[in-house]
Amino acid sequence: MTSPNRLIVKTQTNLSFLQGRGVHGFFSFVRGHMEIYSNERADWLAKEATKLIDLVPMSIPKSFYKSVFKEHVISQWNSLYQISHNAKPTKEFFPSIPSKAIQFVPNFRIIQFLTGHGNFKAYLKCFNLSCTDLCSCSSGDVNHSILSCSKFTPARCLLISSLKKNNLAWPPSFSTLVQNKTCFASFCEFIDTIFLHIL
Ligand SMILES: [Zn+2]
Repeated sequence: MTSPNRLIVKTQTNLSFLQGRGVHGFFSFVRGHMEIYSNERADWLAKEATKLIDLVPMSIPKSFYKSVFKEHVISQWNSLYQISHNAKPTKEFFPSIPSKAIQFVPNFRIIQFLTGHGNFKAYLKCFNLSCTDLCSCSSGDVNHSILSCSKFTPARCLLISSLKKNNLAWPPSFSTLVQNKTCFASFCEFIDTIFLHIL
């Protein structure tokens, strides 16, 4: 009897008491409103209990607090994220803070694409680390590298074909590149191929 929930502990105690007297209780799922007398009776009693003036003392499970707290934190985080003028490249990939954890592990290369802070001439020029913000064929930023730089046409063809297998059109919304493990793996493969040739 390790549950912190008093109702569960009390139920277990009662079951144990009954078992000690040869009465064995079982739990099973019963579909509602099937005119099963004992189930209808339990429903009726539960509804009647809500009308009691004296509240039944009941502890709330820790998991409930956790889920409410998590929802609140993500909502607050998302509000700040939306009003912020920063992180424009990241917002292309993640228009909002995902409510569920994303099941992939970013690496040194992918982070540069997801943030725009990396080995791109347009970014390096901001710090005078490149004499130009242009690639040899057009602008030297994340969008250009992914969508149109002529240096990466063969690698891009593989990415396009992989996305098509997932019924995704080209050009993609960048958020689709991180929407599931398959798309993300194809995107990582593309980045690994082109990374050393961006500059
Ligand atoms: Zn280019």
